[in-house]
Amino acid sequence: MDDRLEDFGLRPLVNVSGTMTGLGASIAVPEVVRAAEAILPCFVDINDLQRKASAAIADATGAEAGCVTASCAAGITLAVAACMTGGDLAAIERLPVTTGLRDEVVLLAGHAVNFGAPVEQTVRLSGARVVLAGQVTSAQRYHLDGAITERTAALLFVVSHHTVQYGLPALETVLDVAHACGVPVIVDAASEYDLRRFVAAGADLVVYSGHKFLGGPTSGLVAGRRRLVRDLFLQNLGIGRGMKVGKEGIAGLIAALRAWGLRDHAAIRAREADILSSWQQALAPFAGVQTCSEPDPTGNPLDRLKISVQPAQARITAWDLADALAAGDPAVMVRDHELELGHFHLDPCNLHPGQAAIVARRLADELRRAAAHPHGIFTPFAARADRRIAALMRWPD
Ligand SMILES: *Cc1c(COP(=O)(O)O)cnc(C)c1O
Repeated sequence: MDDRLEDFGLRPLVNVSGTMTGLGASIAVPEVVRAAEAILPCFVDINDLQRKASAAIADATGAEAGCVTASCAAGITLAVAACMTGGDLAAIERLPVTTGLRDEVVLLAGHAVNFGAPVEQTVRLSGARVVLAGQVTSAQRYHLDGAITERTAALLFVVSHHTVQYGLPALETVLDVAHACGVPVIVDAASEYDLRRFVAAGADLVVYSGHKFLGGPTSGLVAGRRRLVRDLFLQNLGIGRGMKVGKEGIAGLIAALRAWGLRDHAAIRAREADILSSWQQALAPFAGVQTCSEPDPTGNPLDRLKISVQPAQARITAWDLADALAAGDPAVMVRDHELELGHFHLDPCNLHPGQAAIVARRLADELRRAAAHPHGIFTPFAARADRRIAALMRWPD
């Protein structure tokens, strides 16, 4: 693995942060690598290949049809476009101009998150306008009813740890209200394991990432009602062109779906539980460091190790520890959404054999170094955000 990185002059990196696009998303399974390699030199009728993908997606999700997109984000933009244009080819070529179309998308205010880009912008790229419903931490049926008008093209429901996890209506309530008004519901299920649940609940279009838990190529998977999926596929004649998925992405996703069906999920969970307890044991001797296993917030079958750092005893803050791990060799990238609260998580789902022990060793090394530091390592958290923006601005250096 590390030799391949050296060819590019890149340093080795251990990913315990999760399926992050910025780190290369996930470990593509061997079936995907083989499928992409096999199809890359070939000519194919892309629409035929998408037909095969539709059948594979229908089979895996229980939906009527499916389509592969460049990413989940592209899938959301194209799903919104489909809900606005239907099969009107002239309207498809006119987007993002939406004159004469229903062009509003209702989104719960608590779902207006940033997944690496703002979900609202992902909607607006199609030409649609976003209408927020309710407040960030509070919404009910009447907020949705009040937001839906004759201009509403769709309702977007986001399933993610990024969204507010309380005070908001469940998908079933949202489906009930939207469908009573004849409005289709798009579900952003980018990071969800369960490929059938949202289709079974009655969502009209469900969008997943191909490169997250599925271990597929960089791609998106859309499953849903036959007519709407066709209308989304037709967007390739318009705004979808700049978001196109190649033959290797489509073939790779079909292979990923097959492999997903054969994966031994129970064995993977058992392996991950062992990894979590090995990390807990490795960290037990360190003062000011507490660990506990935490279930995934959206109910994916995955636990992560939460590491809380008391700076006074550990002689380092949670964010300084995360940064030290990322700066070392090999770089260890932790799950860092909640650093300012004094904790981070270790996600075991993207580790190659032998890497769990490297993570434990690197943690112990950095904690020992902090304990021996004459003043402790306590930088202000705000400076960290500024440093990250500054580093971005220096690219490509
Ligand atoms: C990752 C993610 C996306 C974007 O997925 P891509 O396939 O990388 O475009 C969208 N929404 C949510 C909730 C995500 O977690």
